[in-house]
Amino acid sequence: MSTSELPDDHFRPTYEEIHVQIGEAAQRIKNDFDPDLMVAIGGGGFYPARVLRTFLKKPSALDPSKLRNIPIQAIGLSLYEEVSGTSEGQIGNEVVRTQWLDAKTVSGKGVKGKIEEGKDAGGLLGKNVLIVDEVDDSRTTLQYAYNELLKDVRSAISALSEEEKKDLAPTRFAIFVVHNKNKEKRGTLPMLPDGLPKEQEEIQNGVCTAVRYFAGAEIDDVWCCYPWEETDIIEHNRLAALAKEIKARQASTN
Ligand code: 5GP
Repeated sequence: MSTSELPDDHFRPTYEEIHVQIGEAAQRIKNDFDPDLMVAIGGGGFYPARVLRTFLKKPSALDPSKLRNIPIQAIGLSLYEEVSGTSEGQIGNEVVRTQWLDAKTVSGKGVKGKIEEGKDAGGLLGKNVLIVDEVDDSRTTLQYAYNELLKDVRSAISALSEEEKKDLAPTRFAIFVVHNKNKEKRGTLPMLPDGLPKEQEEIQNGVCTAVRYFAGAEIDDVWCCYPWEETDIIEHNRLAALAKEIKARQASTN
């Protein structure tokens, strides 16, 4: 392979670039949403969620002078490219759960009084829940994750007594992806406009009816190679630097 040309048109962000983008997005997420916990979609959402946690510490409920990490829950989803018996239009449309939250993790039932911090996330009910993935491509996975978590939250709320419901803060959802691809989406999400004040959100049966959406960066519809997927990170960084060099050269000749 020539060292002057890239072998493909893949986009290769580096660990450092992703870290910086997550840190910048964290400021917006903190101001507009202030998450209490994250639900990371595995495997791609695990690394971004872990980095994001570093920027989203909250004052401890027990000792507000100390900052605490917010909990990360994990779900596993797979987008099946070919499922036998599906029509062409459905190919790549089938999301399969490989891991999900159990009922207690959703409801927080059995967790009484102040939670011993670091020991239990205390459920999703009444929380600001940030769903995290690495990339929003067709949006199929995000639509599935949001709809299914919403269903679980609604059913856990409906099982509460009237008194418990009265004391419960609204449950809100938001989404963070490192990259959003600029393309027509197959999946849909009920999006809140950027910067909408919390007082203007619509709450129905204890749950906000729409989601806030945050992306570290908007990218073209190209394949993105994430550094954590690479076995040869040195080569990944070399190709990432080469792509920048070529872009800079092209910009200077235009
Ligand atoms: P979607 O449901 O939005 O079409 O795709 C979601 C999943 O497909 C992502 O969580 C990711 O695992 C995978 N995916 C989609 N586009 C890319 C990409 O450009 N690079 C990588 N590495 N994975 C992708």
